[in-house]
Amino acid sequence: MEKLSNPQVTIETIKKYDFAFQKKFGQNFLIDEHVISKIISAAELTKDDMVLEIGPGFGTMTQYLCENAREVVVVEIDKELIPILHDTLSPYDNVTIVNEDILKYDIAALVREKNGGRPIKVVANLPYYITTPIIMGLLESRVPVDNITVMVQKEVALRMQAGPGTKDYGALSLAVQFYAKPYIAANVPPNCFIPRPGVGSAVIRLKLFENPPVNVKDEKFMFSLIRASFNQRRKTLSNSLVNGGIPVTKTQIADALKSMGVSTEIRGEALTLSQFAELSDILCS
Ligand code: SAM
Repeated sequence: MEKLSNPQVTIETIKKYDFAFQKKFGQNFLIDEHVISKIISAAELTKDDMVLEIGPGFGTMTQYLCENAREVVVVEIDKELIPILHDTLSPYDNVTIVNEDILKYDIAALVREKNGGRPIKVVANLPYYITTPIIMGLLESRVPVDNITVMVQKEVALRMQAGPGTKDYGALSLAVQFYAKPYIAANVPPNCFIPRPGVGSAVIRLKLFENPPVNVKDEKFMFSLIRASFNQRRKTLSNSLVNGGIPVTKTQIADALKSMGVSTEIRGEALTLSQFAELSDILCS
């Protein structure tokens, strides 16, 4: 059977089901086999793996996931796609199709029940309107996940991967890098999708750490410092924290920065994750 990555097959499927793309669900389907093979290889799939695919669409990437993993579960919000998926995935007996909103789906139960609590892999061409809640939800929930390999808006991929002192560095970079090591596996132009998105895309792989790269006494407090620092990124760290409602005085911040050997005039965008952790530990004690 010809795969859906062949644009002609996707066009025939649209016609066969009279399928209307739903903008509100971020529906841009992949029609490029080369890009799909990059995603599959970045995810480092083996025949032992259980994969969760978020938003399978017509099942284009799912066809490859089924061939490269032990078991695949796809979670799709659009009920119009469910009968189509049963058709396009009928050759595979290792896939389960779930009609649900991924933000409400119990991934921890899936890992427990279908993979004996061992880490799963998450693969997706994500609906861009909910990229951050999906990724941060997965990371913060600490569900056993080995890696998350996803297509996202290029700009978001750059922010996830950015380091201190760059324009893309921000709260998202630090949040992601606290849980995982990001790696951009491919840049993907709009003509690899149907319909074409209005933005460039990139495949990013997040390899989750077994233990966070920094030790911090109060993670919640550290992330509140990080958010406050980047809310007013052109101001000094000290002003951003005080204006951002962090319950510390400018003197306490200045003393903490001095003890870290950092200028009291520094901006948050220049601090590394381990410096934010150190600052957080000093200020919360
Ligand atoms: N994986 C397919 C592909 O690459 O051709 C489709 C990718 S498309 C960018 C995003 C998919 O996510 C769509 O099928 C859309 O209906 C689905 N989706 C959107 N919001 C969702 C949600 N909250 N939960 C589950 N699926 C969702």
